[in-house]
Amino acid sequence: MLKPNQATQSLKQSGIRALGKRCAAVKGINLGQGICDLPTPEILKQQACDAITHGSSTYSACEGVFDLRVAIAEKLLNFNSIKADPEQEVMVAHGSTGAFVCAIQTLFERNDEIILFEPFYSYHKLILELLGMQIKTVPINLTDFSIDYDYLDNIISTNTKGIIICTPNNPSGKVYNREELLTLGKIADKHDLTIITDEIYEYIVYPEHEHVSLASLEDFKDRTITISGLSKTYNMTGWRLGYVTGPALIIEKMTLVQDLLYVCPVTPLQNAAIPALRFLPDYYEQMCASYLHKRDKMVSALQSMNYKITAPEGAYYLMADISELDYSDDAAAVTNLLDKAHVACVTGRSFYMNPNDGKQVLRFCYALDDKKIATALDQMAVIATRGHL
Ligand code: PLP
Repeated sequence: MLKPNQATQSLKQSGIRALGKRCAAVKGINLGQGICDLPTPEILKQQACDAITHGSSTYSACEGVFDLRVAIAEKLLNFNSIKADPEQEVMVAHGSTGAFVCAIQTLFERNDEIILFEPFYSYHKLILELLGMQIKTVPINLTDFSIDYDYLDNIISTNTKGIIICTPNNPSGKVYNREELLTLGKIADKHDLTIITDEIYEYIVYPEHEHVSLASLEDFKDRTITISGLSKTYNMTGWRLGYVTGPALIIEKMTLVQDLLYVCPVTPLQNAAIPALRFLPDYYEQMCASYLHKRDKMVSALQSMNYKITAPEGAYYLMADISELDYSDDAAAVTNLLDKAHVACVTGRSFYMNPNDGKQVLRFCYALDDKKIATALDQMAVIATRGHL
């Protein structure tokens, strides 16, 4: 009888994917998974067809197509203020998820302790566990998105080797500001830690906030791995294109890991994606304005149904506190919303080590077209006026 190994025995289908199936079964509206069903820009789709038709279908270099790495290096300089050598300090990856896996495989030993801010992006936690890391968490206060950096400093042990941040943050919507990043970088300096920063939502930042890359500050670049990707910015989650920059030696080893795990990112799509990195500012401005509109609509509608929400500063998720509603916990709320309003959202516990810490919150994703959002909110309002249960 075949048996899965110890690392995979505890793996279960993610609650978010399972919910997607339940939502489809009731023909509901999925405000759960961050699929982002907005259209991919036409020019990129056309380029993909051309790239396939004109034959760029063989393996690419395992670090990615050179012209794409050049475009990424330009973008890193212009947008992130990170100077990266496209030859040695940039790797195209199989999604930012692939970049994250290669980074963990390259940088850490089994049983190293890694710090996550909580609520966390569940793939970060699950991948760290799969690869044998020990996790410690530091809370993000959901009422004002503050973090107690003294607490962070105090829980670091001799076994701590890395800190993972995600800014703009999935799931909370927090955007780390410059002072916070300076504080974080100094703590990392003091304890000689690596920082991995997942910046996949970097272009989705709302007024009065700015996206700052840790690697652009002081000399933190030497201890930082910056990960991003095309999934969210260009609505192409299924293309599986991400990228990473960091010190040359680490990128070299990550490239060798990537070669073994995936050989290379999808060649025709790498070629097709090059123009995306050179889109003009108005593309990003329009995208942000459109998400701002969706955010405001979601926040005000949910607040009027008595959910407590701190408006997200970036990304396209929000966490809503249900303690003023009649639900016993997050799982009961998700089931009720799906059954009665045909709207899917995610249990707060999916983003915490201890399920109890998340049982008063739900995560909603608003990367959907305005009509679907309006219908979902209308359906929720109907059951809200009936007292939910
Ligand atoms: N990182 C974060 C924080 C995400 O929220 C997601 C997707 O939801 C990803 C990474 C996945 O990105 P990719 O499609 O590039 O693997």
